[in-house]
Order: sequence, then C-alpha cells, then structure tokens
Amino acid sequence: MPSAETVRIDDAAIAATLDHHRRAESPVRVREVLARARELNGLEADDMAALATISDPDLLGEMFATARDVKETIYGRRLVVFAPLYVSNLCANECTYCAFRARNSDVVRRALRQEEVALEVRALIDQGHKRVLLVAGESYPREGFSYVLKCIETIYSVRHNAGEIRRVNVNVAPLTLDEFHALKDARIGTYQLFQETYHRATYSGVHLAGKKKDYDWRISAMDRAMAAGIDDVGIGVLFGLTDWRFELLALMQHIRHLEARFGVGPHTVSVPRLEPATGSDVASRPPQPVSDVDFRKIVAILRLAVPYTGIIMSTRETADIRRETFALGVSQISAGSRTNPGGYSESELYDASQFCLGDHRSLDEVIRDVASLGYIPSFCTACYRMGRTGADFMDLARPGDIKDHCDPNALATFAEYLEDYGTPVSKSEGAVAITRILASMDEGVRHRSVKMLEQVRAGKRDVFC
Ligand code: SAM
Ligand code: SF4
Repeated sequence: MPSAETVRIDDAAIAATLDHHRRAESPVRVREVLARARELNGLEADDMAALATISDPDLLGEMFATARDVKETIYGRRLVVFAPLYVSNLCANECTYCAFRARNSDVVRRALRQEEVALEVRALIDQGHKRVLLVAGESYPREGFSYVLKCIETIYSVRHNAGEIRRVNVNVAPLTLDEFHALKDARIGTYQLFQETYHRATYSGVHLAGKKKDYDWRISAMDRAMAAGIDDVGIGVLFGLTDWRFELLALMQHIRHLEARFGVGPHTVSVPRLEPATGSDVASRPPQPVSDVDFRKIVAILRLAVPYTGIIMSTRETADIRRETFALGVSQISAGSRTNPGGYSESELYDASQFCLGDHRSLDEVIRDVASLGYIPSFCTACYRMGRTGADFMDLARPGDIKDHCDPNALATFAEYLEDYGTPVSKSEGAVAITRILASMDEGVRHRSVKMLEQVRAGKRDVFC
C-alpha cells in the first residue's frame, strides 16, 4: 500500500504511551532498552517514553554513556561547524515567540540587497566558515521567493582570498512543490524547517496570523521537499511550547512517516529551546520550559532512537550546555553566529535580531574549545558534493563506514582552517589536537588522513575523500 502523502500525528497513541509510562521505569527495563540501543537499530516510541522517565542519577549516567558510545561508533570524533546567515527579518506571520513577527514594532526591518549578502559572505569566509544556513522570515522583497534563489546564487558566487562557501543549507518557510524543485536546482544542501510544535492546539495558540497558521501546510512541507528530489531535510521542535515528551514521540512519528514514504528519514534533527526575544513575552516565559537536565535527556534519547540522524545544536544554548551535549550525540554546531541581517559585516544589533544568543564566542574560540575536548572541528562538505545524500548517505552510515570518510575529511578541513584563518593560539593548540587524533586512529584511516594533511599543508585546498 502506498504511504500517505503526509504524516498524521496520532495524538491518542502518544497519550496512551505516555500514560503507560507515568512512573519511573524499572532499572531492569531501562537497561534492556539501553542494551538494544547499543545495537544501533534505533528505538520505538515505547522505549523512548521509558527512557524519558529516568531521574535516578545512576541510570541517567548510564543512558548518557550509551548515547556517547553510539555517537562515537557512528560519527567518530568530528563535529561539523556552520554559521546561520540571516538575509531578511521581514515577516508576515505572527508567531508569538519570535521577534520577527509582523506586529512587533520594536524590530528594525531589513532585507539585505545582494551586494549586502555578498559582504556578509566575505565576513563569514574571513572567519573561516565553509557552510552556511540561509535563514529568512516569511515575506520576501518585491521579487518574491526568487529573492531566496538569488541569495543562494550570490552566496555560492563569492570568491574571497583563498575561501568560498561550499554548502548552503536553507531554513525558510514551507514552499510549493515547484518552489522546492527550484531550491533543488539551486544546489542547496539541506532544507530545514521546524514544526515548532506537533501539538495542534498549542500550535494554534502561538501562530496567530499569516500563512504559518496552517499546521497542515507546514507539516506536509518535508513531503513536498522530498518529492521534489531534495534528499537531505532537517526537522525540529521548538522546545518550551508544550510537553517535551509529547514532542519527542510526535517527531518520531514524522521520522517514521518519511522513512516509510521515501525510504530515508531526515538528515538532521534540531532541538532549539525558546530563548528571550525582543517584544515576546512567550519567549521570556515559555509555557512549558525544558530544564537543563531534560534538555540533555532529549539529546540522548534522540541519539539512541535515530542513531544515523545528525543532531544540530545552535548558539541559542550556552557554551556549557553545548559542551555537555556534544558528548551526548550532537554532530553539528553553529558558531560565531549573528541572528540580525547584516550582523557579520556590520554589528550585532539586538533590536534587529531574532532571539538572544547563549553563546557569544567567536568561531576561533569555539574551534579551540571543541578541539581541547577531543573533537575534530569539521568544515567538511564532501558527502553532498560527492552525491552521498539521502539513502546513499544512510547506506554508508549504517555499516559504520561513514566515519572512515568523516574523520579524515574533518582533519583536512580543520587543518585548512588553521592554515588560512587560525590565530597563533589555535594554530599551536590545533597542531597538538591533530597529532593526538591521528594517534588514536586505525592504521588505514590514519594513513589516508596523513596523506590528506600533507596535501593541505603543501597548499592544496578543498581536499576530501
Ligand atoms: N521564518 C521561517 C519559519 O518560521 O519557518 C524560517 C526561519 S525562523 C527565523 C527559524 C526558527 O527560529 C523557527 O523555526 C523557530 O523554531 C526559531 N525561533 C523563533 N523564535 C525563537 C526564539 N524566541 N527562541 C528560539 N528559537 C526561535
Ligand atoms: Fe516569521 Fe519565522 Fe519568526 Fe514566525 S518564526 S515570526 S515565521 S521569522
């Protein structure tokens, strides 16, 4: 039977599962779920709900350790780094949690002209970035959606000193099938869109006007994106609007639907938590705030439930929380971010920004921190340019082969960053980190990595396998 054209979240099934798991699960059952999670086949809703009940510190520690092992088995030590690029804060919607909402007169409105987009890109290249996530509100200047296509073209066209942006991911409002085809033709990497909340009543309560009021148009967006041939899609929940346990199980239904219909699930999952935003009471006082411990649980449960799906952690979170979640399963992070259009080449203006950042460190500081924790900061864009997307990526990831590519590519792009953009401190700390990581690699992967590093140090750029 063909799969449905869009997911229908089964609220009753979620309520029944959560009801069944109101009390703390027994250690025996928790350990049985964790043992199965170690087999890397993922988990189902009932297992996730069982893990969500854990509060005993020892069991929590066991779950976190399992998440760490699963992450390292599949992803190795690399952490992919990117920067968001806000091109416009014009918006016709009224999302009560967002500073860009239409009726918020406290925000200075602006859509960057293409020359201004290019200036932002140069500033990002000067920092050392290779991957950007284009972000915009849901209202484009006179040319409509083709504004977004022009921005993508501009970003790819900029060549500045030794650098360029090699992958543009996009987070813009849901599109029609034809528009998704155009986005694919523009050579985007991932199309990313968060449902915000899968709970219909909560959704209606926070989306008061504009196209975004339509829950079904939004939840069906990934079906249209994938039907248009966009292999890599990223989904997410804005945590803090309703019960996080409900959101996790609904997110899982969305994932299973995409897997059933397209043979592959989302490439990434994002876990933004509500942050304070100019002109938004909801953002400062989330209806159902997620504590730091629960936030770590969310990351760990996702890592165990969908082991081959990337997890993205943004600079909404503080440096400390980010560090903790790297170990629990995060595979991609943003760094040195600004959320106001023009924020990289001009200055960070809170009254034009989308929300308050938790991590204000520069890219170089984040890179040093990540390396000192034993991870390899990676600017790799190899998979997408080699066509290893969607199901092809998953075929490589499943037997654990992807890290044979990821780790050497991560080291080569890290070395490229250090050569071209590193500060004296990051260069010397980075060299020590690279030596340490090489020593921990298997013979074959180390050999490949050393060869690639030699090429980078000899001046070759964009070396990947
Ligand atoms: N306008 C498009 C949309 O809403 O889908 C795309 C870009 S929107 C600027 C990107 C994401 O920012 C939203 O999907 C939402 O999850 C997140 N966001 C909005 N307000 C936030 C806040 N106060 N704290 C944290 N994240 C927020
Ligand atoms: Fe507009 Fe997106 Fe902000 Fe909603 S979340 S107000 S759609 S920019």
